[in-house]
Amino acid sequence: MTVAPPGARVVAIKVDVDTYRGARDGIPRLLRALEEARARATFFVTFGPDHSGRAVLRVFTRKGFLKKMLRTNATKTYGLSTMLSGTLLPGKLVGAGCPDLLRDIDAAGHEVGIHGWNHVRWHDRLFRMTKDEVREEYRRAVDAYVVALGRPPKSVAAPAWRCTAESLSVQDEMNLLYASDPRGTEPFFPRIGSQTFRTIQVPTTFSTLDEMLGRDGVTENNVHEALLREWDPSRLAVHTIHTEGEGSAYLDSFRRWLALARERGAEFERLDRIVPQWLAQPSDIPVCEVVRKEIPGRAGEVCVQESTAVEAAAHRR
Ligand SMILES: [Zn+2]
Repeated sequence: MTVAPPGARVVAIKVDVDTYRGARDGIPRLLRALEEARARATFFVTFGPDHSGRAVLRVFTRKGFLKKMLRTNATKTYGLSTMLSGTLLPGKLVGAGCPDLLRDIDAAGHEVGIHGWNHVRWHDRLFRMTKDEVREEYRRAVDAYVVALGRPPKSVAAPAWRCTAESLSVQDEMNLLYASDPRGTEPFFPRIGSQTFRTIQVPTTFSTLDEMLGRDGVTENNVHEALLREWDPSRLAVHTIHTEGEGSAYLDSFRRWLALARERGAEFERLDRIVPQWLAQPSDIPVCEVVRKEIPGRAGEVCVQESTAVEAAAHRR
């Protein structure tokens, strides 16, 4: 008899906190929206300097970025001070600069994990970073996390859905419960080249709001329906939102998404409460390759779980 994998009807909400303004303004708003929906979520917080203004420079250097900024109305989403942060204005510390907000998230019953130290540096340079450089990014974030919350983190999610053999091997040193770096379909143990890593990856399974908007007639008024068309209730779903988007200009879209998902039977749970159910049956967790790909609605490559398993975990042990 095959037993259904854990996670049926469960929708895990991942809240990425990328910028200072996103943290300061978006966290309180999202905490209210989640409380109203009686939903638990996992917040992944960037801890270091907000250099998001440097992303503006990519307008001039990267194909597709300008189109996306215009399509999603980036100044509406991010605000002018964020777009200048780390360029004309000094970069404020994101998570390390608002420990009270992190304690608010924790006290409200949500999980707090790490979304890197310097988000922009990770996005721009990870594919060229050495293992020591990656370790340093994590060390600074972990130190700031411990200062804010008095304990080490159990989870990390890579900025920009980017990971490498170096970043996965640093995660294996960190004694984590899980990581949530790439896009994909189900929890898995990652492999890159000939290396298999032992920290379970729980990928983001839905498209994000900013990837959907402007495509095929999707607007902020119907994006909640478009997102839920991707939902398969028989398996764990992981939906990533952003304090700079759903915690700001698109808060109403997010509220509609919460209500509709609830109406359709979704249960919202933090990832650290779900992952132990998977780890209890490690032989059911596949090993899958992680590859770099372009995905619709997003400029540049992200890391994606290959859909065919390389091998079942049972064969590996
Ligand atoms: Zn991010």
